[in-house]
Amino acid sequence: MPERFDHFMARANAAYYAANDPFADFVTAPELTQVFGEVLGGWAKVVWRMMGSPPGIVLAEAGPGRGVLMADVLRVFGPAPVHFIEASPRLREEQKLRVPQAVWHDSLDSLPDGPMILFANEFLDALPVRQFIRRPSGWMERYVEDGAYVEQRAGLGLPDQLEGSVLEINEPAIALIGQLARRSAVALFIDYGPLTSAPGESVQAIRAGKFADPLGAPGTADITAHVDFAALAQTARAAGAEVWGPAKQNLFLTALGLHQRTDLLARSSPHEGEKLRLAARRLTAPEAMGSLFKAMAICPKGLPPLPGFE
Ligand code: SAH
Repeated sequence: MPERFDHFMARANAAYYAANDPFADFVTAPELTQVFGEVLGGWAKVVWRMMGSPPGIVLAEAGPGRGVLMADVLRVFGPAPVHFIEASPRLREEQKLRVPQAVWHDSLDSLPDGPMILFANEFLDALPVRQFIRRPSGWMERYVEDGAYVEQRAGLGLPDQLEGSVLEINEPAIALIGQLARRSAVALFIDYGPLTSAPGESVQAIRAGKFADPLGAPGTADITAHVDFAALAQTARAAGAEVWGPAKQNLFLTALGLHQRTDLLARSSPHEGEKLRLAARRLTAPEAMGSLFKAMAICPKGLPPLPGFE
């Protein structure tokens, strides 16, 4: 029986995150340098003041990995109730080591009401996308059967494109951002993807640091897709939120003082200095992560421009 591609990707990634240490296969910003999380902690503190310093504000994170980002955020932000959305039991254990006071959830649905700032670094790219391809006879949707793509007539209307064009739709990401906008949360998404929507295939798989076949044995590679920030921004605006960005990670982190903070820390722990400076460069250099990665935030209408996006 052919399996719709997004169902295949969801199943493969759930198996992958449950069984593997993903950080053996790829490295993320919080794993590169503590300064990444620290500047986001400073960002959250400024945003919290802009919100009128609501007491008991919840700091939430979707897909916290090993829990490093939140531990770094809290060092700067100060104590706050922490809520994690995490599917992998194995990564929940890792997160417990670094943020023992956190409360874990399967989805946003069970998080407490009230003011909230949510972070998601390299989370949306791991959510399953539906893939459509424009054939002479119209739009077809991709399914997977015996390790290969098969196509079936698309069951939904799509804007016309040139023959051969591929469209990817991340339905869980769209649902999440709509839900966050409706509950007036502030949310910061950092991920890779283009500034404007463009058709094209971006699904890729990484195994042991190398590109692999996304349709290979499910659970053996990390499958991701580029994030369509423009589509998500449109959803958030339609649900009543204000949207800032997407901005290149380079500009966002530099505006938040990544380099100054790196220098300060490098001076106080010289043996770490070179490693910290290299990491900051990797996060901001256009040929590394500075340009492909974007930051985008949503917040309730009426707040001043959020830091890093002015
Ligand atoms: N933010 C971390 C980890 C990125 S990897 C970092 O930057 O290092 C993606 C994370 O999202 C992992 O923690 C993975 O287990 C989690 N994840 C992936 N799909 C998920 C889903 N559908 N629901 C909840 N968590 C998910």
